[in-house]
Amino acid sequence: MSDIATHGGSADMLSKMIKRDEIDRYCKDGRDFIDDDAIRAEIADNAKPDKARVRDIIQKSLAIQTLSGPEVAALLAVDDPDLIAEMADAGWKVKHKVYDNRVVTFAPMYISSYCVNRCRYCGFSADNVREKRRCLTMDEIKTEAEAMIRGGHKRVMAVYGEHPMTGARFIADSLASIYSARVKMRRGECTVRRINVNAAPMSIDDLKIVHDAGIGTFQVFQETYDHKVYAAMHPADTVKGDYGWRVTCMHRAFDAGIDDVGLGVLFGLNPDWKFDVAAMCAHARELERFVNIGPHTFSVPRMHAASGSDVANAKSAFTDDDFFKAVLVLRLAVPYTGLIVTARESKELRDRCLRIGLTQMDAGTRIDIGGYSAANKEQKIDEQQFMLGDTRSLEEMIVDLAKQGVITSFCTAGYRCGRTGGCILDALKTGREGTFCKINAVLTYREWLDDFASPESIKACEPVIEAELAAIKEMYPKFFPTVMERYNRICAGERDLYF
Ligand code: SAM
Ligand code: SF4
Repeated sequence: MSDIATHGGSADMLSKMIKRDEIDRYCKDGRDFIDDDAIRAEIADNAKPDKARVRDIIQKSLAIQTLSGPEVAALLAVDDPDLIAEMADAGWKVKHKVYDNRVVTFAPMYISSYCVNRCRYCGFSADNVREKRRCLTMDEIKTEAEAMIRGGHKRVMAVYGEHPMTGARFIADSLASIYSARVKMRRGECTVRRINVNAAPMSIDDLKIVHDAGIGTFQVFQETYDHKVYAAMHPADTVKGDYGWRVTCMHRAFDAGIDDVGLGVLFGLNPDWKFDVAAMCAHARELERFVNIGPHTFSVPRMHAASGSDVANAKSAFTDDDFFKAVLVLRLAVPYTGLIVTARESKELRDRCLRIGLTQMDAGTRIDIGGYSAANKEQKIDEQQFMLGDTRSLEEMIVDLAKQGVITSFCTAGYRCGRTGGCILDALKTGREGTFCKINAVLTYREWLDDFASPESIKACEPVIEAELAAIKEMYPKFFPTVMERYNRICAGERDLYF
């Protein structure tokens, strides 16, 4: 392995990886679109919103309209328990209006832990000599995908450190390897149906290569939008040290033809978490201004213990209650955007977030490289990026959700029917997509139960299907026979039917 695998980048490498003109074109007078002072002023100016104003803002969310900066700031200031309860109730309603009663599930596949960056909170940092690094070969990626399919997964999030050997061509080839995996299960062949990607920012040409390989959502987390904290966490002589390259990457993604993007903040990094909630919403509004398409998802990873990181291993002042409030405000601020709460968090906290409108959860998660095909299933701090809080299997999580009346969905129809970008956002805002979410959840749930679940799990989940089918019959009586026709074909062993 070359020395950049473990010792960070050089000035020459930075100039090769960062295209200055592909930052500048999205900036104004040399400044990016996150104005720290303006966001702080909005938070200060809206520190004491009266009840009537908060209720008006809640009504705007319920009408599935994106909130303005001052409105987001006002919600961040609410600490009256009654108003918080009203916001939580609205979060649940917003989520049901846009995405219905389903939670989409996925699992990350960590493909390489080699990284040229030295993010102070991450186990993959090039400074961390303790990390046992690995990059999967194409054959190993296929084997890993097969192990994931055997575990019941259909939606994969492919995750990569940043390194020249895992550039755009490697990412495209790795996606092809995952898509090529096929496993015979009880009722026929199963495959990975959609791969989302979490990788470093890329140039427009590289993003076109990744786009052409067939990705779902392209995720890049800003970690923190606070320019000063960002600089303190990401050394200036690394690629990731360039705030502008990172914050403009979704603009480049849209210009490369990717119309489905996910934003995120690494909570716990910036003590002023309210700033980061407000700034991520400002990023969403900037994308709406730029292409009239906001983010498909917000992710709310929180910093957890990581190998060799003083920052990640220090006790954070960011509490579970702060986490809950951040999720709640994001839920209301950009109502059409999905919300991902990963297995970094405990089952209890994820359940709390479920009741205010999270839309996606991973399960049966492994974040060590090759972890799904490995015999040893224990977490090892020096072989993964950070430590997980929720280690439930996929089956355990599905049953737990069923007990709460929630259906787990493996739906990938939106991507495959072209319902992405501006087209899906309109459908989400009007509640039209929620109809597809509801029906496709039932179809993919049936498949999963028949292919993977134990008899006890089937028993626990069957009432959810019955309730969902009854609701579909009542809501869409004319369409119901068509739904049942596909449902019965799935019961008879056909696979991958969707609307
Ligand atoms: N290397 C790419 C990057 O940094 O954009 C993409 C993948 S990185 C493996 C995925 C995400 O993990 C990062 O964006 C960061 O938010 C999160 N992360 C890093 N260190 C973490 C930690 N100690 N605890 C929880 N999440 C962490
Ligand atoms: Fe590398 Fe990403 Fe970890 Fe930073 S967060 S060290 S870029 S893998």
